[in-house]
Amino acid sequence: MKLISLDIHGFKSFPEATHIQFHEGITAIVGPNGSGKSNIADALLWVLGEQSVKSLRGSKMQDLIFSGTSQRKPLAYAEVVLTLDNSDRELKLDFSTVEIKRRLYRNGDSEYAINQQRCRLKDIIDLFLDSGLGKNGYSLVGQGRIDEILSARYEDRRLIFDEAAGISKYRKRKEEAEQKLQQTEDNLLRVQDIQREIG
Ligand code: ATP
Repeated sequence: MKLISLDIHGFKSFPEATHIQFHEGITAIVGPNGSGKSNIADALLWVLGEQSVKSLRGSKMQDLIFSGTSQRKPLAYAEVVLTLDNSDRELKLDFSTVEIKRRLYRNGDSEYAINQQRCRLKDIIDLFLDSGLGKNGYSLVGQGRIDEILSARYEDRRLIFDEAAGISKYRKRKEEAEQKLQQTEDNLLRVQDIQREIG
């Protein structure tokens, strides 16, 4: 699964409709301080279903809508569209291209769509669950998080890598299976004891 493009309109410092195309390899976004680089990462996180305004560096959801400048009026809504290449069908949708849209109006109303079909926020969150790209994945690492990860204990850091690589769910299943095995062995021992008592 690869990112194809991100379209931002009215989100934070982007009053103009802005199209960002991701090409093969690494895409770097450079610009002076305060020019909106982190706002692009916020837009990505938001369209993937982020609900915590704090994680998006705001205090209320309306902070995400372009608030105007001395030369420009505030906008009525913020919209972000993320287009992904799904030819490997990693997202459980039978489309080679998946387009996720999220829009927020000043009155608090929200709209969500997957491939132009209106949907709920939950549908978007569910779509990315276990894909490594969802809001709980570690595919998006904020500036503060880097320090946190570097200074974490090595056991905690291992958990972060496991989660990012999608290994955690297998570790959990392995632990559950081991527990069941242990219970079965205990039961077997008890049966053998009873057999011995009877015999
Ligand atoms: P740095 O290099 O310092 O980390 P940056 O390029 O990542 O900076 P951002 O943090 O993405 O910059 O952008 C900050 C800018 O976005 C500020 O100028 C701020 O005023 C503007 N901004 C944030 N929210 C809004 C909004 N709702 N309306 C208009 N502008 C906004």
